[in-house]
Amino acid sequence: MNVPRVFFLILDAFDPVRLSPHLTPNLWRWANADGAATGIGRSVMASCTYPNHASFVTGVRPSEHGIWTNHVIREGEVLGAWDAGPLAPTLFDSYGGEASTAFGDHHLVGVMGARTAASHWPPDGALSPEIALDPLAYPADEAVLPHLVEALGSEARLVVGYFGSIDTYSHIYGPGSDEAADTYRRVDDRIGQLEEAIDWPQSAIIVVSDHVQDTAAERPGIDLRSVLGEETIVVDEGSAALIGPMSDPGVLHGVEGVEGWEQLADGNVLAWCERGRYFGSSELPILKGVHGGAHTLTQLALVSGGHPARSPLAAAVNDGEVPAESWAGAIAGVLG
Ligand SMILES: [Zn+2]
Repeated sequence: MNVPRVFFLILDAFDPVRLSPHLTPNLWRWANADGAATGIGRSVMASCTYPNHASFVTGVRPSEHGIWTNHVIREGEVLGAWDAGPLAPTLFDSYGGEASTAFGDHHLVGVMGARTAASHWPPDGALSPEIALDPLAYPADEAVLPHLVEALGSEARLVVGYFGSIDTYSHIYGPGSDEAADTYRRVDDRIGQLEEAIDWPQSAIIVVSDHVQDTAAERPGIDLRSVLGEETIVVDEGSAALIGPMSDPGVLHGVEGVEGWEQLADGNVLAWCERGRYFGSSELPILKGVHGGAHTLTQLALVSGGHPARSPLAAAVNDGEVPAESWAGAIAGVLG
């Protein structure tokens, strides 16, 4: 049997209910290919981008890889998750020599530990002036596409790709907006262009998202700084917030709009809010789509491709909700 290759494609904020023959015809075809399976996955908390991407490649949850939101608080300092990096080994530590990545979010190179991949883009996770950016200043899908096509045409046995436009346009216009729907169509067009570069019989293909988005309520943000005092470190992450070491997290019970919280092993606290609410000090939402809390945990989980090695992955999808942290082990199982 031919040696299998894995193509792991992440579509940020893709809501599985939008998968359909008219909105996403190419992905729909992948979902209905021989031996394919489509279901849903489950985000880790917080339902932010970087905790899930770290779980995708480490196979462990935030309690082990240390990335609870897009930022981390270590020794009283706020760091980007891309500078902190995961505290657990990644797929690229095992398969980096055979791996190629192209990410429409330069920070993912650090978040996913992809510097050890034989080829990664953007190089060293840095933006350069010639890279086209989307409205939230991430590399645009059209900038990613040629690098992903090149990776798929290379000898790499593990190709990891990421398109971020659905998240960007859902944030700006709302997940139910016409602009978001147009973005699903454009992403699906690009998936059609990728298909020509895929060695289908040789490949196990996995397409996932990291979370969905809720429409932000036209209400003021939940301003934890005003409640906890300026000396407390608060990192607002949409409908989640990471709070620096707190001796008495019980005070969060009394904060209007806070739905739950968890004290973490390092003394920090992860809080989340009611559906549609968001953390911050603005009077009205700056972004129309929000995620981070416990209402945006749904992920897409789709397995396709022509190599028989896809079968156990498809079986796992058919079995029920797939946890974000289960993919790394599944991918390692295919690559051997
Ligand atoms: Zn995301």
